[in-house]
Amino acid sequence: MKVLISSEEIQQRVAELAARIVGDYAEEPITIVGVLTGSLMFLADLVRRLESPVRIGLIQASSYRGTATEPGQLEIGPELLPDLRGRHVLLLDDILDTGQTLSYLVEHVKRLEPASLKVAVLLRKMGRQITPLQPDYCGFEIPDRFVVGYGLDFNDQYRNLPFVGVLDG
Ligand code: 5GP
Ligand code: MG
Repeated sequence: MKVLISSEEIQQRVAELAARIVGDYAEEPITIVGVLTGSLMFLADLVRRLESPVRIGLIQASSYRGTATEPGQLEIGPELLPDLRGRHVLLLDDILDTGQTLSYLVEHVKRLEPASLKVAVLLRKMGRQITPLQPDYCGFEIPDRFVVGYGLDFNDQYRNLPFVGVLDG
C-alpha cells in the first residue's frame, strides 16, 4: 500500500476547509449531510472543527458494489435525514469521481427545498468527471487511481486507515 495523502496532511487540510466554511457561513446554522459510508471520517473530523451551529444528517448512495472498481448502478438507500427545508445544507462526500453520485444527490436534496445547498468533497479525481458538478469545497485533487483509506473502501475493507493510499502500489 502506497500512502498518497498522509494523516497529517488530511488533518491540516480538513482544518483549513473548516475555517473557510465557518467564514463563509458566518453564524448561520449548517446542516451537514454526509454520504454513507465513505464520508464518515471526513464528516467526523470536519464537524469537530466547526464553530458554527451544526446539524448532521446522513444519506446513502453507492455506485460501487463489492469488489468492483468501475462505477455500477447507482443505488439510493433509505435516508437518515433531518428536515432540510429552509436549512443551509452542505452535502459531504469522500470523493468526486465521475460526479454521477453527487449530481444525483444534489437534485434529490434540491427537491427538499433547502435555503442553500453546497457540496464538499475530500478528494477529486482528475480527468474523470462526466457531469459538470463543481464542488464548493475540495480537500485534494488526486490522479486517476483507485484509492482507499480515511473512509474509502475496497470490498468494505480499509475504511479505518488514517491516511489515503493507493492499493495497487
Ligand atoms: P462518482 O459517482 O462520482 O463516479 O463516484 C463517487 C463514489 O464512488 C464515491 O462516493 C466513492 O464511494 C466511489 N469511488 C470513486 N472513486 C473511488 C476510489 O478511488 N476509491 C474508492 N474506494 N471509492 C471510489
Ligand atoms: Mg461514496
